[in-house]
Amino acid sequence: MMYKKGRAWIELNMGNLKHNIEEFRRVLPFDCALMPAVKANAYGHGAALVAKALQNQGVQAFCVASAAEGVQLRLSGISGEILVLGYTHPAEFGDLLAYDLIQTVVDGSYASVMQEDGRKFTVHVGIDTGMHRLGERWDNMEEIVKIFRMPNLKVAGLFSHLCVSDGKSEQERAYTLAQIRHFEDVTEELHRQGFRDFKCHLQGSYGILNYSQCCFDYARAGIALYGIYSDKDDRAMAEVDLKPVLSLKTRVESVKMLYHGEGAGYGLTYNACGNRKIAALSIGYADGVPRELSNSGYVLCNGQMAPVIGRICMDQMLVDVTDIPRVQAGDEAVLIGKSGSLEIQAEELAQWAGTISNEIVSRLGERLERVAE
Ligand SMILES: *Cc1c(COP(=O)(O)O)cnc(C)c1O
Repeated sequence: MMYKKGRAWIELNMGNLKHNIEEFRRVLPFDCALMPAVKANAYGHGAALVAKALQNQGVQAFCVASAAEGVQLRLSGISGEILVLGYTHPAEFGDLLAYDLIQTVVDGSYASVMQEDGRKFTVHVGIDTGMHRLGERWDNMEEIVKIFRMPNLKVAGLFSHLCVSDGKSEQERAYTLAQIRHFEDVTEELHRQGFRDFKCHLQGSYGILNYSQCCFDYARAGIALYGIYSDKDDRAMAEVDLKPVLSLKTRVESVKMLYHGEGAGYGLTYNACGNRKIAALSIGYADGVPRELSNSGYVLCNGQMAPVIGRICMDQMLVDVTDIPRVQAGDEAVLIGKSGSLEIQAEELAQWAGTISNEIVSRLGERLERVAE
């Protein structure tokens, strides 16, 4: 039997996930349901574990990036609605039907491709209200109505996506309010033309956090549902109390001395000033530890901070444990999460690596065991 915490692993605090769901339900209008984003392996957390936990909390709608992710959810026993947010190649249209997935209509010409396929598909129509990524343009009402009239498309939903809802400037707030208005205009025009039987959704995490008064059928919570903010400073500002679900841990493999003037790791980019005690950890960039952490940032070891030294390797990394007594092979080291009274949050690690926490967690590798606690 394999021991799941032998090398490098992710611990999921399911109590915190439940708490975060309750926080979102508290701030959203009572008739707005959560449609959590569990794409990219549930932001690295483990899609099957997370989706099942959400399903047990009464969540009945999910969104993913690809049809393959939707199929995986079905195979792990998810029964609610599954919306594919991105492009599905026509060669995969069969999966939409076989696994009862809802496809996003990414624009008018994609709608025609689906219509001409000949089979009947359930879809949500994407509307571009200003991000200019996916969706038919909000001001192209004629095309939107054409999509709604296509006999092979059962339009069950209409949605758009906000692109500066995390911004605090007056300009960004005005832009977001304009996006909301454009989306409502499209909805109202469709209602006027007699199309009523579809659900609407617009907000992702920051749409919920900063515009919780919006009143739509679903809210597509992603990053914040996992208790993570895109940026470190947002935690203090939020009116919800969200708790991190994920911890990232590894093992100390070996402890040794590095003597004054000696280098360590590939390229010998670290050079010991004085005699140092160093530890090798069994996790690396193939597991999703950003290589930008080379010679910067920390891990936690027995409740103390151990600075990263040398380059992050594919499967391993080195830290300085000179000031931490009694470190030995087999000890835990924490890259994200708590150790003793200290904590490293995903937002901090992201800052050290010069990126956002979304990128850090969504790249956590296949090799990491996911353990629900
Ligand atoms: C990823 C995604 C979401 C979730 O975004 P978060 O910022 O992580 O909450 C919602 N909607 C769409 C269209 C997405 O692509």
